[in-house]
Amino acid sequence: MERRKSRRIFAGKVAIGGSAPVSIQSMTNTDTRDCAATIAQIERLVEAGCEIVRVAVPDRAAVQALPEIRRHCPIPLVADIHFNHILAIAAAEAGVDKIRINPGNIGSQERVREVVAACRAHGIPIRIGVNSGSVERELLAKYPGDLPRAMAESALRHVRILEAEGFYDICLSLKASDVPTTIAAYRTVAELCPYPLHLGVTHAGTPAMGNIKAAAGIGGLLAMGIGDTVRVSLSSDPVEEVKSAREILRAVGVRRDFAEVIACPTCGRCQIDLIEIAEAVERAVKDIHQPIKIAVMGCAVNGPGEGREADIGVACGKGDGLLFRKGEILYKVPRAEIIPALLKLADDVLNGEQL
Ligand code: SF4
Repeated sequence: MERRKSRRIFAGKVAIGGSAPVSIQSMTNTDTRDCAATIAQIERLVEAGCEIVRVAVPDRAAVQALPEIRRHCPIPLVADIHFNHILAIAAAEAGVDKIRINPGNIGSQERVREVVAACRAHGIPIRIGVNSGSVERELLAKYPGDLPRAMAESALRHVRILEAEGFYDICLSLKASDVPTTIAAYRTVAELCPYPLHLGVTHAGTPAMGNIKAAAGIGGLLAMGIGDTVRVSLSSDPVEEVKSAREILRAVGVRRDFAEVIACPTCGRCQIDLIEIAEAVERAVKDIHQPIKIAVMGCAVNGPGEGREADIGVACGKGDGLLFRKGEILYKVPRAEIIPALLKLADDVLNGEQL
């Protein structure tokens, strides 16, 4: 998969775009004015793997909380601002690393100029975030039945406002709550501009459906080589967004810093508690941060062949398992030793030991 070549910007020390790794973002859902609660939530997000965090900045009091939050925030901090250019300027001055605002919603050109001047002075980029529900009426009329195109055009309108000020440290998002619209909008805008793209499916819902929408939308785009940073939107604890984003990046092969367990779905040939074995292996390897693929297969007939793409694996029989490496059979162990033997084998492979 060839990644789309995008312009590189920086949110603090985190590069977005170019060949930078796809970064994981989330947004706090605490009251930003409550510094202690917001900082505590940011700590939990960072612990889960969040790399850029956004906070809502609805008023002056929220701006006043930003320096304190910034002091305790170990990752880039993004201020989310709607309409109010005074708040945008104040947030830039308060030390945030990026601003999310739509320049077309600020009002006069002079106000846009002031926001750009503040962002330029502080060396911070602007994300233009278009949502399907906020597309201008005349664009909807111009592209009847083509919401993705109207969304892309809306984003580009905002882009042109910033470009007219000579400002190019721009990131774009074009989120819809349904997957096909989201994918089509990002694909369209990816063709029309060089800016990095922040991927997301907005208002995706509770984790039950939201995770699936995010996986389909964000994962689908990443698999096409589109996307530079991601945020999974869930009606849930934002820590769940980070976990979900991480698994999506892993599933599409954008991140390989983990032990991937592949397991067969089982069928009538399986004569062992395979699901239990697979789950136990998954739990046991969750803290491995090196790339290794481990197959847990339900029968000795098809297992080694079907698991050939894995680095190591086990093909289970009735009460025992055949360990294999790259499809080559190694040795047989009884059921009780399957998990420890597989973990030892993983350890040996990761340590480069000759088997
Ligand atoms: S590996 Fe064996 S048990 Fe598992 S699905 Fe394939 S044939 Fe069935």
